[in-house]
Amino acid sequence: MSKKCLKQDGEIRLFVDFDGTVTVKDVGNSIFDRFLRPELLEQGWHNEIIESWKAGNISSRECLTYECEYSIITEKELNTELEKFGLTPGFVETVQYCKRRGIHLMILSDGLDYYIEYILGKYGISDVEYRANHMFFHNGSLAAEFPFVDKGCGRCGNCKRWHMDTIRQDGDVIIYVGDGFSDRYAIRSADIIFAKHDLADYCNKESLNFFPFNNFFDILRYFRQHYGNV
Ligand SMILES: [Mg+2]
Repeated sequence: MSKKCLKQDGEIRLFVDFDGTVTVKDVGNSIFDRFLRPELLEQGWHNEIIESWKAGNISSRECLTYECEYSIITEKELNTELEKFGLTPGFVETVQYCKRRGIHLMILSDGLDYYIEYILGKYGISDVEYRANHMFFHNGSLAAEFPFVDKGCGRCGNCKRWHMDTIRQDGDVIIYVGDGFSDRYAIRSADIIFAKHDLADYCNKESLNFFPFNNFFDILRYFRQHYGNV
């Protein structure tokens, strides 16, 4: 792996997952755990639908569509809730390093654009590029649109792998950082993988090489070692 990155003659491209990777907590899951209809939460419906998605019985598009539709929430309530979420340590520093070093950074999320924009804005890094599903407020609940769903096989709302394969050029080095099940296809298009939690388990199961990480200071350490201390 390290040989590959030293021999890179194109661009260095860093793709990162959002929920549980850029943020400490999974924002989407936490929001729905809080604002789904009370009777659904009492019945354990949310856990059931997530397990159903993980088992491959429903797509993430279906999962998100139901979660949005069955929420009861106003814009003010959502914004207040979003104030509680913080960035994973080292992410702002990684954004700054990438700018200085000319590394292309993009967030790829199968979550929702509204909270990504809100949280990036809160930390003054709204200029970080992202691709995600679209969320809007609708009749006292939420609704989602999936502009990239037809780019992939349909299991994900937003096909992360399509973005990576479309953007990458010959000679580029592709680095992916993620934590979960929604990253399982994207990592197949990466040269270097940083993984934790469910994604690390998946890599181990599939015998894929990866670097474990706790936060973005681990990524920064790798970058400084391989791409210079700029
Ligand atoms: Mg995640």
